[in-house]
Amino acid sequence: MRILITGGAGFLGSHLCDRFLSEGHQVVVMDNLITGSTANIEHLAGSEKFRFVKQDVTEYLYVEGDLDAILHFASPASPIDYLDLPIQTLKVGALGTHKTLGLAREKKALYLLASTSEVYGDPLEHPQTEEYWGNVNPIGPRGVYDEAKRFAEAMTMAYHRYHGLDTRIARIFNTYGPRMRLEDGRVVPNFIAQALRGEPLTVYGDGSQTRSFCYVSDMIEGIYRLLGSDEVEPVNVGNPREMSITEFARLVNEITENPAGVVHQSLPEDDPKVRQPDIAKARDVLGWEPVVPLEEGLRKTISWFQDRLGRAGPP
Ligand code: UDP
Repeated sequence: MRILITGGAGFLGSHLCDRFLSEGHQVVVMDNLITGSTANIEHLAGSEKFRFVKQDVTEYLYVEGDLDAILHFASPASPIDYLDLPIQTLKVGALGTHKTLGLAREKKALYLLASTSEVYGDPLEHPQTEEYWGNVNPIGPRGVYDEAKRFAEAMTMAYHRYHGLDTRIARIFNTYGPRMRLEDGRVVPNFIAQALRGEPLTVYGDGSQTRSFCYVSDMIEGIYRLLGSDEVEPVNVGNPREMSITEFARLVNEITENPAGVVHQSLPEDDPKVRQPDIAKARDVLGWEPVVPLEEGLRKTISWFQDRLGRAGPP
């Protein structure tokens, strides 16, 4: 297959490139590098099966040659990034989805949308199944991401229903691993960087809010299987092991042997109080569930960050 991955220089996008290339496919990456980085794909530059195009996917798209699949992963994905880049976030979720769907139609390509657990907003149902419609504040600071992704899902379903395009929608929950940006502001890189510097971890609010963290290799496997399935409606992809941010901070401090503890800072507006995927559908339809325990994934991620920070230390 020849596959286009938008946002292919980002965290998940670049791991998808690795996976598809290792399966013998050809990969074209489109990325405008506002949150992605060529450092994530530089190891692929020598491969004749790989091409990189620096382009904003909200503008007119032209790709020479056939495409068998398009995976739309371009978007700022961290709350501080979409606060910094609110218009770009809305545009890539809305216009970028429209443009890539149009390209998929032109090329008769299979289309996979990277959607998000943020479509559930600050959820009133717990855990979240795909049937839940969500509780999103459209005008809050996170609305630029949440509403763009909700629009993207609606647009993807419209292309499927109206144009008969073959589509998939992955609702991606919190994912972590190597190649997350150190400064992207999300809890995993923040805590790891703070712990490796021997600083207290910044817990927002009282730390009772929960998240469920999926290691990147599990996520990539889930997305890969979804693409190969025939499931058109959204599928949750994430790790159902839920914990409070306080517990998560304790774990990071334990693994890194960081004695500095935590400091509390104010809770960002509209920060979801709970989040946990119900993955019954993924288990059933994809035969998939995460296999990497959090402690193991964290150790791998910490050692990757350690190399980037250029300092020795535990573990
Ligand atoms: N968080 C925190 N300290 C940090 C960064 C994040 O306590 O330094 C909290 C944040 O308030 C949220 C959770 O960790 O409740 C996950 O935040 P993240 O930015 O990783 O992504 P989200 O799941 O909110 O999209």
